[in-house]
Amino acid sequence: MKMRKRPNVLLTGTPGVGKTTLGKELAQRTGLTYVNIGDLAQEGQLYDGYDEEYQCPILDEDRVVDELDEKMVEGGAIVDYHGCDLFPERWFHIVFVLRTDNTQLYTRLESRGYAGKKLQDNVQCEIFQTIYEEAMEAYSEEIVHQLSSNTPEDLERNLEQIVQWIEQWMKDHN
Ligand code: ADP
Ligand code: MG
Repeated sequence: MKMRKRPNVLLTGTPGVGKTTLGKELAQRTGLTYVNIGDLAQEGQLYDGYDEEYQCPILDEDRVVDELDEKMVEGGAIVDYHGCDLFPERWFHIVFVLRTDNTQLYTRLESRGYAGKKLQDNVQCEIFQTIYEEAMEAYSEEIVHQLSSNTPEDLERNLEQIVQWIEQWMKDHN
């Protein structure tokens, strides 16, 4: 039996914009597999050193890519990560960059326990649209889309739009 082809979706954006919330619900609704790069790295200890400034381990990007490649070639993954230029371009059929107003993001990150430089840097990352620019550099511009992620209504609309896109992609490719 031939497996139905399924697309790979990248959800990216500054920490706190809502990637995990969207990705998990999207996986529920579509049957695609949710992949959280942070969790994957943690489970496999896919690290290469420690960042003293940010007090966090440094991702071993090559090992992350090796670990996931087989699954990505197969298709049907929703990948969640706050960066996007470490992945092979060929992996993704569509890239969504979630965006949140900075006052809103500040509140979300603060309630997550972020403070000081870590809080400032992440809010600044959003203000400077760092991840959006990274995505536009790393992928073909036609597949990169920004999504507002400020309210529960935004979340629902984003879910519906992506579910629809996935269904259409599967019709077109099977
Ligand atoms: P990320 O995975 O990008 O760091 P999360 O999915 O963990 O972000 O979301 C961060 C916080 O923002 C959570 O408390 C979540 O409930 C909230 N949140 C996510 N998306 C929305 C949205 N569209 N509207 C309001 N709150 C949201
Ligand atoms: Mg997350």
